[in-house]
This record gives sequence, C-alpha cells and structure tokens, in this order.
Amino acid sequence: MTTLFISHGAPTLAMEPGATGRLLAELGRSLPQPDAILVISAHWDTTQPRVSAVETPETIHDFGGFPREMYEMQYPAPGAPDLAMRVVEALADSFPTTSMDASRGLDHGGWVPLMLMYPQADIPVTQLSIQSHAGPLKHYQIGQALTGLQQENILLLCSGAITHNLHDFFTAERDAPVLDYVPAFTNWMAQKIADHDIDALLDYRTQAPGGHRAHPHEDHLMPLFVALGAAQGSGIRYQPENTYGILAMDTYVWS
Ligand code: ZN
Repeated sequence: MTTLFISHGAPTLAMEPGATGRLLAELGRSLPQPDAILVISAHWDTTQPRVSAVETPETIHDFGGFPREMYEMQYPAPGAPDLAMRVVEALADSFPTTSMDASRGLDHGGWVPLMLMYPQADIPVTQLSIQSHAGPLKHYQIGQALTGLQQENILLLCSGAITHNLHDFFTAERDAPVLDYVPAFTNWMAQKIADHDIDALLDYRTQAPGGHRAHPHEDHLMPLFVALGAAQGSGIRYQPENTYGILAMDTYVWS
C-alpha cells in the first residue's frame, strides 16, 4: 500500500496545474500502478465514517463561482465497491458505525489530483469520509485500522491541505508573497513527521507555531492524520509551491 498526503489547493488547480500539477503527474508516472485507489478527502465530512460503494462515481463539482469549464470537467474512473467492502471490514472492530454509501461520487478533493496523476481515469476509485468534529486522534486510528489493507496493491490518497485558512485569502495572485505563519507551521510539521513524533503532531494546535491560524477549522488537516496512521516510517516531503500567499502545497509520500 502506497500512502500519499496531498495539499489540493484551490479547485482551479485543475485548470492551472503549475508546479503542483507537474509533481502530481510525476508521482502518477513513478509510483507503482495501484489496482485501486482509496481517497480520503477533506470535502466529505460526515458524523460517522462512510464509504462510497457506487459502480460509477459521479464527478461532484462541489464549489461555486468558478469558470464554466470547471463544471464541465469529468473524471470518469470506475468505482471500487469491492474495495469499499474491504474498508468497511477493516474498520469494523474499531469503528463499527462505518457504513456504505450507495450514491456518493468523487468530490474535487479527489478528482482534481487524480485527474493530474492518472488522466486516463482507468483505475477504480472509492472514497472514505472524514469526521472533522472528532479531531486528529480518531483519524490517526482510522489510518491504523486501514493497515489491514496493507498487503493489497492500493493507493491511499489522503487529500487536504497542510495550511488552510480561507479568512486569510485576500489575493487572486497565485504567487503572492507568503504569510509568515505558513512556513513556520509547515516546517514544524515536516520536522515532526520526519521524527515520527506522533504525540506532537496530534497536539499540533497547541504545539505548532501558527497551529490554530493555519487551521481555524480542522477538516483539511484530518486526511494527514489518516495517512500518518496508515503509513510506515518517514514520508518524503515535496514542496512544489505556495499559492495565494496562504496555501502551502506540501505533499508527502510513504511507499
Ligand atoms: Zn479543499
């Protein structure tokens, strides 16, 4: 099982891939081709874990106010109901309230990076929800439970953002000067991930410089904790760019 954490940035990454898109395309080419992909996106937030079991996932355009071509984009990958069943089984002991969802498609936290990594859209994909109200520890434990899938050739694609404070979004310039708290926070996270200091990471809001400012809502960091729970050893950090002065695009790969 290969595990990724991706900062997916603004939805317009699909139209303007830039350095992040080049990184994702390179990862798609260089990582072992998975038999199926399990997406954990910040944009599917539920009270209890849910796993999509649809045969043909809809491309969900879950954003507003973007150019029309964004709404015409489709990612027609097949679903992975068999994988969904195995995810429910893997979570059954620790999270018995996990359930199947018969209609959920792929939100932009899933299809935008997948379109850049695997543009041919031929790898079956399904999605597992987050519960942002429950905080980092639960997501770390969900990741640990997913290690039951480890012997299978699955890509765990955890898609959120290493920094995500949209109250700080004041510019449309992608290469705007970066606010000071962004590198302070992302470098602290990188050090703790390299040290595998899970206790510090779970307590990031108290311990990390700018922890609360980087994540006034925790939803976009929760996929990282799933990745940390599922992955073994130290991840490789990639820093393709910072966008709009506030969205660091840090990506981690464990393989
Ligand atoms: Zn997002």
